[in-house]
Amino acid sequence: CLCSMVFTGQKHLLDMEGALTARDRVGIQDFVLLDAHTSETAFLDNLKKRFSENLIYTYIGTLLVSVNPYKELDIYSKKQMDIYMGVNFFELPPHIFALADNAYHTMLAEANNHFILISGESGAGKTEASKKILQYYAVSCPSTTLLDNVRDRMLLSNPVLEAFGNSKTLKNDNSSRFGKYMDIQFDIQGDAVGGHILGYLLEKSRVVHQNHGERNFHIFYQLVKGGEEDLLHQLGLESNCQHYSYLVQGECANVASINDKNDWKTVRNALSVIDFDERDIQDLLGVIASVLHLGNVQFEPDSKGYATLNNSAELLWVSTLLGVNVQVLQEGLTSRKIEAKTDEVLSPFTVDHAIYARDALAKAIYGRTFTWLVNKINDSMENKDSSRKTVIGLLDIYGFEVFYVNSFEQFCINYCNEKLQQLFIQLTLKSEQEEYEAENIGWEPVQFFNNKIICDLVEEKHRGIISVLDEECLRPGEATDLTFLERLEEKLDSHPHFVTHKLADKKTRKTLERGNFRLLHYAGEVTYCVVGKGNHGVRPSGGVTLLLNVASQFKSSLLGLTDILMSKEPWYVRCLKSNESQQPGQFDDVLVRHQVKYLGLMEHLRVRRAGFAYRCRYDVFLQRYKPLCPATWPYWRGVAAEGVEVLVQHLGYLPDEYKMGRTKIFIRHPRTLFATEDAFEVC
Ligand code: ADP
Ligand code: MG
Repeated sequence: CLCSMVFTGQKHLLDMEGALTARDRVGIQDFVLLDAHTSETAFLDNLKKRFSENLIYTYIGTLLVSVNPYKELDIYSKKQMDIYMGVNFFELPPHIFALADNAYHTMLAEANNHFILISGESGAGKTEASKKILQYYAVSCPSTTLLDNVRDRMLLSNPVLEAFGNSKTLKNDNSSRFGKYMDIQFDIQGDAVGGHILGYLLEKSRVVHQNHGERNFHIFYQLVKGGEEDLLHQLGLESNCQHYSYLVQGECANVASINDKNDWKTVRNALSVIDFDERDIQDLLGVIASVLHLGNVQFEPDSKGYATLNNSAELLWVSTLLGVNVQVLQEGLTSRKIEAKTDEVLSPFTVDHAIYARDALAKAIYGRTFTWLVNKINDSMENKDSSRKTVIGLLDIYGFEVFYVNSFEQFCINYCNEKLQQLFIQLTLKSEQEEYEAENIGWEPVQFFNNKIICDLVEEKHRGIISVLDEECLRPGEATDLTFLERLEEKLDSHPHFVTHKLADKKTRKTLERGNFRLLHYAGEVTYCVVGKGNHGVRPSGGVTLLLNVASQFKSSLLGLTDILMSKEPWYVRCLKSNESQQPGQFDDVLVRHQVKYLGLMEHLRVRRAGFAYRCRYDVFLQRYKPLCPATWPYWRGVAAEGVEVLVQHLGYLPDEYKMGRTKIFIRHPRTLFATEDAFEVC
């Protein structure tokens, strides 16, 4: 029962620290308990107060807010896991383990599927949170020796996927450059027996281009720095990152917080545990090495200005490692096959075109290898036993992104965030509404911004941005970046969340350069660059007319994901970044306030409280508070609901303060319950 649990939890703090001082010093562990008209400032004060005491977790009801401490806290040990195992949500201080444990026990009790959505911007702590949850399940759930290897594989899939899918960015030294959804399957006894991963939109452009201060994917540096001499020799690699053009663009091959050599050992060992045989590993590393060699392939113009190769040694390595005929490879990099009536003619590339083809090949090779890797990991975690299983899905997906130049990838990432926000709105309001309906309680809607309008702007059939992009893809030879933008302007000029340079001043009072459009996302404005070469531009890597429409594919994979999630019970972890410089203990008020705003935390709090902050089953409520009324103490012999009515009238609850549902009492304000609890403490 929520109300009694809240108080037990809060009491726990008071017991530990001594009445008011504790609450003053460490803040309140559930925002629902803050004063009635909670302001954003009070919300932030509470977060900050707790953060300064290393209390990084706070609840809003059952949603967990986490603030990245950027330092190791001694709160994740096996001992801590044991403390949280099987204990009610509010009985202990807020913790990621409490959320994991409650999802787990609810799943077992109700035999249904759940998911935990972890969101927040880059560097906020999403991946760490998802690892902690996975560890909790792997370590704390009942185990049989038979299944230990499945658990090991689940845990070790992390360092492998991070090596291939994470990189150092300006925001996070270990930034996930792909979205990850992982189902953890449990059998009827609650044993973790299998897993399955879905990967979303790997940032492939990073393979060939990195901004200053950023790196390529970790695996390249791990292999070059940590690879054994024999291995490097076999792969034709030097043990020096400076030798590879795909590794030096960001000028930060060495990162203080990363030990590539050690990580190499971890990954190499993990690969063996996850059922990769030596042949698989050789092939995998061969492909990774081929990308590095490919990056060093350079072109020169011949007398007619067409591209010729000037480093055949590197090309030979690519050919050997990939098992592709060197002639075919050379032709593919320097020319395009055009099918004439009966013949095939080679149309030579300029140097720029050849570089584009080389980079496209490198990205494709890496992207497919990543997909292969995920499939391979899935095979090794698969549980072939057909007995009934329930799952907890963990979603660790990229947060909202705004850069100086925002391209196709940011467009997809931000669209994904709009979809998840929409899901959050639907599920939060839906479940709240369903409970009121089931209990026959009138529902008073809360004002909140429904971002459906922005989702439609992106994905609506015939009118949405992706649809326009699709249409442009069907006009090979005619469509250009600018015609795409013109079409968008034609169709969407009147849309309140779409801004072109023509209407920029009117809509947002800010000018906009030609070649860009701006979307007014729920989390803020983002200007996307349409006209771009190579890795820039909202059209995927330039040139729509060569490419399948990646945005459309992404849209269908997101729709698939929303279907998966909609069929499960939600739990939320909202991660906040405490400061931009990854410094321990620093709390940047402006930065945190911004995230609180766009993650919709205040709205969530309002939704939680607008209707009724607390609800409690009649029998449980009566059992706890019956000493407060002579008519109910020591026994109430009638129906529990009637006893509760007598009790609350005796306590002087005003008619507007509570509602009697079918099975529960609903209490509007926390202060009412506080007063009752105070009276209970005294008696
Ligand atoms: P995200 O996935 O949101 O981009 P990460 O989970 O990779 O962010 O976190 C970024 C970094 O912040 C981690 O590498 C780690 O150094 C630090 N960090 C995140 N969560 C915690 C935590 N709970 N305790 C200590 N440090 C953390
Ligand atoms: Mg991450």
